[in-house]
Amino acid sequence: MVLPWWTLLLYLRNARSVPPTAYNYTAPETWQETFPMCGGPMQSPIALTPNRLKIIKAPALQFADHLENGMIEAENTGREIKLKLLPPNPDESLLNLFSFDGETLGIYEFAQMHFHWGDVRLNHGSEHAIGDKFTDAEAHFVFYNSRYDSFKEAARRFDGLLVIGVLLKGTEDESKGLFPTLGIEKQMKAVSSPGKKLRARADLRPFQDVLRRAVKTYLSYHGSLTTPPCNPVVTWMVASKPMFVSYKFLETLTTNVYEDDDGMDLLVNNCRPLQPRHKRVVTQFISFE
Ligand SMILES: [Zn+2]
Repeated sequence: MVLPWWTLLLYLRNARSVPPTAYNYTAPETWQETFPMCGGPMQSPIALTPNRLKIIKAPALQFADHLENGMIEAENTGREIKLKLLPPNPDESLLNLFSFDGETLGIYEFAQMHFHWGDVRLNHGSEHAIGDKFTDAEAHFVFYNSRYDSFKEAARRFDGLLVIGVLLKGTEDESKGLFPTLGIEKQMKAVSSPGKKLRARADLRPFQDVLRRAVKTYLSYHGSLTTPPCNPVVTWMVASKPMFVSYKFLETLTTNVYEDDDGMDLLVNNCRPLQPRHKRVVTQFISFE
């Protein structure tokens, strides 16, 4: 069923956040039966082959003070592991992204990060592909446009959300500069079933390096949330180069985390298949500094 584009506006206006248990990854092509926007235009993820190049000043990132004394709160939502990253001063926002470029113009406030991953064979766990290449996993840093009062409100606006994606490749070589996992792999059992949470002190400074690197050279396009209700409100910034992550982290993710309370179904392959790109432009951004 092809819907006229303006019906999207009606769906968006009434879009609610969806409990993770309202969908699963067994048949993602059926999401649109319950969540019509998932079958609409501008869906994510897509295969990223740029057809435009822009040289820009990289978006500026402003972090809270004393990130070395931060906290993490990890939660098994039943469909992903979601991480809240908290600065020592709870009144401060952890991170703001300032963009002066046309497409992402504005100030975006960080909300949360989470991971998507494959199964124990780890050959396809990223959602996006760079060119035609998937990697083992993908991290998403989710921001909302501060011109809106709340994340909820921003998720109903076409320019509401911005997500920085980092594709991750597993390695056993711990001497490589690795994506920070904050030691969660040692405590993964604490979030083994849905609803379980883990709070721990964490040095959040390594995320500064990851994000500063990500916004220097990235692939950008307009797309959607990759989970229902699939709101087409996301400016995607996917780091052009994948990063390495400890294989141990991926292994504990794929063997210790369950999507049900009984510990029967491992939470794996929580990555949405590629969606039609149609005529969307993918821009390769390179910063000049
Ligand atoms: Zn995601």
